[in-house]
Amino acid sequence: MDKTPWQSQPLTMIPGVGPARRAALHHLGIDCVADLLHYFPFRYDEDTKEHEFSAETGTVVVVASVAGEARVRFVRGKSLLSLPVVIHDTPMQAIFFNQSYLRNQFSVGMTLRLYGRYDATHKTLTVTRHERPSKHGALRSMTPVYAVSSSISVITLRQIMNAALRRVEPQLRDALPGELVARFRLPSYCAALRMIHFPDTLEDVHQARRRLVFEEFLRYQFHLQLLRETAASERAAPLDPVRFYEGSESFVRALPFQLTDGQRSALAALSEELIGTVPMRRLLQGDVGSGKTAVAFALAAGLAHTGQQTVLMAPTAILAEQHYRDAVRMLKPLGVTVALKTSESSESTVSVNPLKRGECTEDLIIGTHTLASPTLSYRRLRLAVIDEQHRFGVGIRRALREKGEGTSVLHLSATPIPRSLALTLYGDLAVTTLRERPKDRLPIKTMHVSTRDQTPVFRLLRTELMKGHQAYIVAPRIRPDDVDEEMKSAEELYEVMVTELGAARIALVHGQMNDKDRQQVMREFVAGHTQVLVATSMIEVGVSVLNATVMIVYGAERFGLATLHQLRGRVGRSIYPSYCMLVTDPVGNKALERIDALLSSQDGFALAERDLSLRGPGELLGARQSGLPTFSIGDPLADLRIMEAARDTAESALRDRSFWLLPSYQDLRESVLRDLLQKME
Ligand code: ADP
Ligand code: MG
Repeated sequence: MDKTPWQSQPLTMIPGVGPARRAALHHLGIDCVADLLHYFPFRYDEDTKEHEFSAETGTVVVVASVAGEARVRFVRGKSLLSLPVVIHDTPMQAIFFNQSYLRNQFSVGMTLRLYGRYDATHKTLTVTRHERPSKHGALRSMTPVYAVSSSISVITLRQIMNAALRRVEPQLRDALPGELVARFRLPSYCAALRMIHFPDTLEDVHQARRRLVFEEFLRYQFHLQLLRETAASERAAPLDPVRFYEGSESFVRALPFQLTDGQRSALAALSEELIGTVPMRRLLQGDVGSGKTAVAFALAAGLAHTGQQTVLMAPTAILAEQHYRDAVRMLKPLGVTVALKTSESSESTVSVNPLKRGECTEDLIIGTHTLASPTLSYRRLRLAVIDEQHRFGVGIRRALREKGEGTSVLHLSATPIPRSLALTLYGDLAVTTLRERPKDRLPIKTMHVSTRDQTPVFRLLRTELMKGHQAYIVAPRIRPDDVDEEMKSAEELYEVMVTELGAARIALVHGQMNDKDRQQVMREFVAGHTQVLVATSMIEVGVSVLNATVMIVYGAERFGLATLHQLRGRVGRSIYPSYCMLVTDPVGNKALERIDALLSSQDGFALAERDLSLRGPGELLGARQSGLPTFSIGDPLADLRIMEAARDTAESALRDRSFWLLPSYQDLRESVLRDLLQKME
């Protein structure tokens, strides 16, 4: 018997996977069988129904039966294969360009699934992709669509998925205790994987998701609650309030602007909490640009004046550098010492001088997750500020907190969420909200543009570039892909912009570039050396380029409302008028409602509420929320009820100790504790 647990078995044990496919899978982040089975479809194509099909010309998915012989013609050097088919009782021609080799592969009576553009006038279907029934049976009416690359197709990925599932099915064990599976009427793990990859109906997908999301959330809740148990009893030494307020007030007086009322009252509440003996656990949330950092800096200034330290942890080196520059500008003149520690900066100092590791002595230390690494220590740490906190796991937050005694933690988040959700997601955090934006900001002019006529896009870009401003252009994906030919990718848009904008300095950035290159590109944009940045939505969080006044989002219908709002928040950060263009193909009603919501409101809270009410079943897997902890399948907003069930389950299993004592919890317990230890490192 093979003793390797199925999860870590190499991909090459799957029939049909050799070195080439293994490499292609690696590019998708898939390195073992478990990665593969947890690589979920982002969408399902459902067959176009008869009434939808006859309505209008457009892209359709249809089952066709072959009604005659294929014929090949040549038109201006292109081969054109036409195949007589019957679709929903209507005879027509299916057209394949440059695929004359298919001629002998079709036989009369055969059933096919065709993807393509339907032309009602000529009764033709221009096929972009076709599938024949698999060996294992008929065509299903729900076809999973995965994010793929050019070296592996959706069809191949589906075959590999099927082969892998058959291979490991007998070994798949449920980590969830049987009593939970029964209580919540969940499908087994094995059934859930089969249904999510090969569903017959939307209901299958729904049930499979429920099972997988519940398990993911339950693990998260165990982590959260186990860590919380250890934090409850901490106390801090009281601080001298007079010194503290002298420090924070001199910072506020030196600012070139007036704090908003919201900032002022948040600062008062947080200060009071911070000088007390119960360590602060608080979330400061406020829409993009509401000025959360200024509040955090004021606290740091107060603490510095009492001889205490603050760390500020940002999710990326670029953001850390940005905070560092601001801190140097605003805090140094007051005598507050500031340091920057990112993995880059510390690595380079380490290689030069190993003694540089060790103790940080400055008043404010700004950095990335490196701040929590075991090589750094702080003697007077009082406050850990975690910017865009959803980016960090539970463990790293705790590691940071434990760098001091009675350290307070302040989380900053630009994704406004209701208090109840904050409690469920983050445990017992208190919540403070900044509701207003600074007064000098103009609203961001938001427009909807069709891909059919992009002249407004180029006109806007040219005018703003001429004024010396900068622009972001965001695409839903990096490369063209074989499923959605229509959708613009970052690489294609880069080419388009180079052609259209001639002399402008244009750069491309996306998540598959290595860290160093990516940061280089970002830095050049931040510094104003490049004028146009073509990117995927990875730029959404935090970056602040005051001179950027244009945000153009291609394929805007593919992004969730929250993400679009965050993207738009990248501009309008200064006194210049700013613009946001949402570029889409002709879109359905749901997408149109989302776009309309953005056109009519700039209030993140209102938009977050609209977002939830606009979700449809087609977006089951696609709509990843920005600004909330990310899960591999669960969506904390849309799946809030499952999160609540997971929270209650974890709470009661810890309270009555069944988590520790019952044999049915053993598998789950062992893997939860193992993950927890790994995350702490
Ligand atoms: P966010 O809440 O998105 O993190 P920041 O703290 O980055 O917002 O603030 C955005 C910009 O607004 C910064 O350049 C900051 O200096 C400036 N700012 C902060 N508070 C105010 C204010 N009350 N009036 C004017 N500008 C402000
Ligand atoms: Mg910020």
